[in-house]
Amino acid sequence: MELPFAESWKIKMIEPIRKSTLAEREEWLKKAYYNVFQLKAEEVYIDLLTDSGTGSMSQGQWAALMLGDESYAGATSFYKFEAEVQKITGFKYVIPTHQGRAAENVLFSYLVKPGNVIPGNAHFDTTKGHIESRKAKAIDVTIDEAKDTQLEIPFKGNVSIEKLEKVLSENKGNVPFMVLTVTNNTVGGQPVSMQNIRETSAVCKMYGVPIVMDSARFAENAYFIKTREKGYENKTIKEIALEMFSYVDGMTMSAKKDAIVNMGGFIATNDKDWYEGAKMFCIPFEGYITYGGLNGRDLNALAVGLEENTEFDMLDTRIRQVKHLADKLDEYGIPYQRPAGGHAIFVDADKVLINVPKEEFPAQTLTCELYLEAGVRACEIGYILADRDPVTRQNRFGGLDLLRMAIPRRVYTDNHIDVIAAALKNVYDRRDSITRGVAIEWEAPIMRHFTVKLKRL
Ligand SMILES: *Cc1c(COP(=O)(O)O)cnc(C)c1O
Repeated sequence: MELPFAESWKIKMIEPIRKSTLAEREEWLKKAYYNVFQLKAEEVYIDLLTDSGTGSMSQGQWAALMLGDESYAGATSFYKFEAEVQKITGFKYVIPTHQGRAAENVLFSYLVKPGNVIPGNAHFDTTKGHIESRKAKAIDVTIDEAKDTQLEIPFKGNVSIEKLEKVLSENKGNVPFMVLTVTNNTVGGQPVSMQNIRETSAVCKMYGVPIVMDSARFAENAYFIKTREKGYENKTIKEIALEMFSYVDGMTMSAKKDAIVNMGGFIATNDKDWYEGAKMFCIPFEGYITYGGLNGRDLNALAVGLEENTEFDMLDTRIRQVKHLADKLDEYGIPYQRPAGGHAIFVDADKVLINVPKEEFPAQTLTCELYLEAGVRACEIGYILADRDPVTRQNRFGGLDLLRMAIPRRVYTDNHIDVIAAALKNVYDRRDSITRGVAIEWEAPIMRHFTVKLKRL
């Protein structure tokens, strides 16, 4: 008999988690204003809020912490980190930052001017925030296919070359760079093909516009290229990643994703002007350029994480687990963004809570229901996260309204995944009786989803 698939690691340390009662969860959720970001972590049984900074570090990473050099300037930890980033990305200049958005803040402070236009295959919320707060415009040039959650194509995260060309030709001289996000988080952790990266790069070159790769999940993207794109079957993840980076001018990275650290990020580029420009902002915002808001030990763990998580077996274990959740949802007939993405499953809330009008935020309502059902904390990637249009101040209902279940790396077993799927099935089975959603009582002007206060209608 053929042996079944199993994880490429074993467990050395455990952390107890606790179930709760429905009555407890009702009280906690009300106190949190129906915003799961406001829950205490101990009020959660299985936490799928994010895969960011929530992974389990390896024994190699924990060992590296002990070797941290906490010198203010020129620590050995920095040089280990710098050499690893150079090896994985092929970029010469490296600036550490405390997380991904800090990398955006530092680099964009140099690159973005009021009135600029910045296209992207779908801007992540902090990326959009850092562009819009500088009075520039973030335009999504996502392929139309990405909006059809039921359509199954291998590279749903791709850039629409046609839409990109239109933005570039209509805004000549006003586009400081284009953002290429891998994998494309906003449309469901969907990968971008190497062919699309190559075409995007060619178009941008034609217009003299550089590319910043938002690389939070570049290793997962490389995994999908290896397993889905012709010609890459026999290449290693590291070879594929190097090729991906070779088509762009620089990168920002949230190391809390594919480098599997609890905190960390960086900027890397071959452009000396970008490096010098970003350095000026790193020092006041993040700290001196050889630590950028991180401890020496953090830089060590980051370097080891990058090295280990660009190996196929590690990624194979992870992405198969995400697929396992998708397979369960298929069994129960629950619609999600197909095919399964790299880090999360995005349930199409509009198709589940068909009786809840969009003005009452179906995905946020589904997030509340899933928590009440079993203490599973997912999050809304939908109309609340989309924020208001900066000019008209109207809610943006044009995109998808999704419930995201992000799977932390190396944290939960497939038994936990089965509990999550069963809880969602129970909500799904009573979907017809859910007719009202939530209303906003208070919101911040940007990135409102973290702190929004809601009431149940
Ligand atoms: C997480 C993320 C960021 C921001 O990184 P943080 O470390 O959370 O600040 C930027 N872009 C993408 C695609 C991300 O997933």
